[in-house]
Amino acid sequence: MRVGIIGAGISGLVVAHQLQKAGIQHDLYEQADFPGGNIKSVRIKNYVLEMGPNSLLLTPEIEKLIRELKLEPEVVEANPVSGTRYIFRDGRYRRLPDSPLKLMADTYFHFKTKYRLLQERFLPPKPVNPHETISQFFERRFGREVLDYAVSPFVMGIFAGDPDQLLINKTFPKLVKYEQVYGSVQKGLLKDPPKRRKTISFKNGLQTLPLALGSKLLGLQTGYPVEMVTKSHGKYIISTTSPDYVPREYDVLVMAIPAHKATPLLEYTFPGLAAALRNVNYPPVAVVHTVYKKASVGFSLKGFGALHPKKENLFSAGVIWNSSIFPNRCPDDEVLFTTFVGGTPFAENTRRPRMEILKGVHEELKRNYQISAERPVYQHFYLWHQAIPQYDLYIEDAQQFAKTLETDNVFIAANWCSGVSIQHCVKRGLKVAKKIQELASAQTA
Ligand SMILES: Cc1cc2nc3c(=O)[nH]c(=O)nc-3n(C[C@H](O)[C@H](O)[C@H](O)COP(=O)(O)OP(=O)(O)OC[C@H]3O[C@@H](n4cnc5c(N)ncnc54)[C@H](O)[C@@H]3O)c2cc1C
Repeated sequence: MRVGIIGAGISGLVVAHQLQKAGIQHDLYEQADFPGGNIKSVRIKNYVLEMGPNSLLLTPEIEKLIRELKLEPEVVEANPVSGTRYIFRDGRYRRLPDSPLKLMADTYFHFKTKYRLLQERFLPPKPVNPHETISQFFERRFGREVLDYAVSPFVMGIFAGDPDQLLINKTFPKLVKYEQVYGSVQKGLLKDPPKRRKTISFKNGLQTLPLALGSKLLGLQTGYPVEMVTKSHGKYIISTTSPDYVPREYDVLVMAIPAHKATPLLEYTFPGLAAALRNVNYPPVAVVHTVYKKASVGFSLKGFGALHPKKENLFSAGVIWNSSIFPNRCPDDEVLFTTFVGGTPFAENTRRPRMEILKGVHEELKRNYQISAERPVYQHFYLWHQAIPQYDLYIEDAQQFAKTLETDNVFIAANWCSGVSIQHCVKRGLKVAKKIQELASAQTA
């Protein structure tokens, strides 16, 4: 059996890594000159800059990968202060209470909302509505203030999305389970609390992980953009645009690329899936790194960062305080901010000229963090034209269609399939590799 994998982001890399361990022949095609996809770390001057994800949650699966790759000495754990998050509210940053007791004692939420929170456990559950949005779910169970000033900013931070459009059972299925199984979200949290995971990165940034995976893979072919997949006599033929490439046949195909990249490749062989994939939404996100001298910043940066609710009408969606989270992101006498502009609710702002975005970010940071410097020490700009797939009504068709193709030996390991976070992509990659191993065993039996 031979497997063709398209895309060497974390999803495709994990599939290939597992297949190599199992001795299953495969080729992994990557259009870029290096693996990683969204996970892109750059060292410029004395700065470690992340263009995509800034950190990941250490699940047992990722811990195992790190051990296998002998990356333990490279791991950096997040500073404990990064458990604290700030939300912009009424013109200033407010610390979000991090425990139920603190929340009740704090003035962050109005009295009426606190009363509503206490009532949630007595609110009868409603039958599952697969099309219920995050907004509808939270407004129904906790009220508008919780939605606007706690949930929406986090939804923006994780999915770059709009809670009015994202579906609750696709984004936070555990909350739906809590309501259905235990009768309320709070009862569910008590009886089946989410596991606490460490937040980590690597000394040279998150791309250390995909680079290490890639360096061990014998079948990785970088600089090979796949342009077409065809099927003939039960075999898949992958064609690339590289002049030196001779098309190869595969028994199994793994698609590990974004939906919008998969559409043109599959149009000929799987027109139904290609059509469904065309509808998957990916909002743009601009990532702006800004450095200041520490002495010029008046605000105490003890936390992970700050989120900006849409209602507050700020220019950016949120800011990560990198130099407070991980060591050596910048020199000791400087601070490094990563500002995210865009996502579905703020998409308009990414369409402005680049210089205007840089200026907008600096002015907002200057105002909100009491920065005395007229100019940053350094600024860097990166634009994701299509950043993160939106788990809204439109993705459902693509996911359903993708499942039916498994009987044709086509598997999806990509962030539009079963979760956008790195840990979800790793989990999905492992699952797909396991299915292929079972297929291989069945064929040899
Ligand atoms: C700005 C941003 C911030 C994020 N922050 C976090 C975070 O803090 N924590 C977290 O857990 N997750 C975060 N995520 C999400 C997470 O990084 C991604 O969901 C995940 O890395 C996607 O991995 P993937 O392998 O599925 O896809 P991708 O990373 O998109 O990889 C797909 C690969 O396929 C290649 N490819 C595409 N087309 C072709 C073709 N035709 N031929 C060959 N190769 C092709 C691409 O070059 C790419 O390398 C963030 C994402 C973004 C964009």
